[in-house]
Amino acid sequence: MRLSDFSDWQVLRVTCTRCNNAVLLYPKSICLAARRPLTMTVADLEKKFRCSCCESLGEARIEIGPQPGGWR
Ligand SMILES: [Zn+2]
Repeated sequence: MRLSDFSDWQVLRVTCTRCNNAVLLYPKSICLAARRPLTMTVADLEKKFRCSCCESLGEARIEIGPQPGGWR
């Protein structure tokens, strides 16, 4: 699945498998903020995501969800 395939209301939960730090990201804001192409896939993103907490690279697990707060 590519980032361009997501709808505006969808959000990605990126969890670091090392330290369990989780962030919610909108697919389109990833492209703007990190200058990633919209053709990037979720699998690519898992490999390239750097955890802001422990700084490990490629240790992310990505889940696709409805909207922030949807996992309560
Ligand atoms: Zn981490």
